[in-house]
Amino acid sequence: MFKRVLIANRGEIALRVLRACRELDIEPVVVYSAADAEALHVQLAEQAYCIGPARAADSYLNMNAILTVAKAAGCDAIHPGYGFLSENDQFADACAEAGIAFIGPSGDVIRAMGNKAAARKMMMAANVPVVPGSDGAVETAQQAKEIADRIGYPVLIKASAGGGGRGMRRVFEPDQLIPLFEEARSESVACFGSGEMYLEKLILNPKHIEFQILADKAGNVIQLGDRDCSIQRRNQKMLEEAPSKALTPELREKMGAAAVAAAKAAGYENAGTIEFVLDQEGNFYFIEMNTRIQVEHPITEYVTGIDLVREQIRIAAGLPLSHKQEDVVLRGHAIECRINAEDPARNFQPCPGKIDFLHLPGGCGVRVDTGLYTGCTLPPYYDSLMAKLIVWAPTRLEAIRRMRRVLEEMIIDGPANNADLLHQILYHPEFVRGSFTTAFLDENLDTLLQWSRAGDEEGKA
Ligand code: ADP
Repeated sequence: MFKRVLIANRGEIALRVLRACRELDIEPVVVYSAADAEALHVQLAEQAYCIGPARAADSYLNMNAILTVAKAAGCDAIHPGYGFLSENDQFADACAEAGIAFIGPSGDVIRAMGNKAAARKMMMAANVPVVPGSDGAVETAQQAKEIADRIGYPVLIKASAGGGGRGMRRVFEPDQLIPLFEEARSESVACFGSGEMYLEKLILNPKHIEFQILADKAGNVIQLGDRDCSIQRRNQKMLEEAPSKALTPELREKMGAAAVAAAKAAGYENAGTIEFVLDQEGNFYFIEMNTRIQVEHPITEYVTGIDLVREQIRIAAGLPLSHKQEDVVLRGHAIECRINAEDPARNFQPCPGKIDFLHLPGGCGVRVDTGLYTGCTLPPYYDSLMAKLIVWAPTRLEAIRRMRRVLEEMIIDGPANNADLLHQILYHPEFVRGSFTTAFLDENLDTLLQWSRAGDEEGKA
């Protein structure tokens, strides 16, 4: 097992990894930017090193600075968390060259899955269903138009290097294809430095269902069930639950087997996620693989009882999986709410700032992953995640009621956030029924915001 692990991240995920290290008797070493000198991950670590100024490009994305610290501090592994360098093939390669274990898959696998057009091709070859679309990347807008005319509208233009919902455009009318293609391509060049695009048929009102997998260096692959991440704003997840109410045991079995086949086809190792869209008829299609730990991993930990970060570290150290497929049993129901410093009434505009007072909820079946504390300041340079509230209960309805209670208990005296909106979602009949799709939040946002305002008025009366 490793002796000392560098955590190349910040916020709640840095704490998550730090805790896993301590439980494995590994010394955690943390890094931080000038904006994070007071951050909780720095306060809780015995060894903390400043790696540069606030801007992520100068600190958390600065490979040289991170590797220099890792070598100087005698670290034998680096955990990248999510975001930042977690899906950076060059960083994985650089770690390997420096003789430091990267807690994730190899640079080659990250490259193969990071190009989404190429990943689609690999999945087709492995008989994993993909959304009908282009055979790989499309070169020109004209070529895209021809493919779209053939597969039929609506279509979705996507960026091969895309992430976070950027570089994506939905096209309903043929005459919109060329201008929207150019728009998506410019966005992709600006965000990812690549203009490689591909096309998929737009599945109308699908569910986003993903499977957690674990794979060790010996080629053993298991799946840890599904997560329903259909509550999204601008193609970004806001509330997730496990397991999904939409899957029958047969469909879960089938999708789980496809997820395992996908990971095997990629020669995968470590923890990973296979994302699918599920249409109204029960057909599912691979959309992408995430080669890192995900924000929403705790709901899988709750229903399986398996510590995913611990497994990641064990796998990178060359140990075999701690569990066999037949040992994995999904128990009860878990929900996660992402509390973001953003204003839902102002188009989810980020609202960083000082937290004057914070009261975190607790109680039976409640877990809160956060780097916040009373008096801290949420810097404007990074993502707007403030806290993850995670609940577990024996049934879905009990988990919903528990999450409502948890949101009622939490007090954040500070920047605007989406806690009220999440609370209203948990009362919406479509959410309670479980029939919601990725269109839910866009379609219901005005109503949900009205409910929240009405609640405020009542509170004042
Ligand atoms: P990103 O990496 O940018 O998050 P994804 O490929 O994971 O991009 O897609 C993000 C979201 O967009 C998915 O969760 C899903 O809601 C939606 N989506 C992706 N592909 C399709 C598709 N072919 N049809 C309908 N919705 C899709």
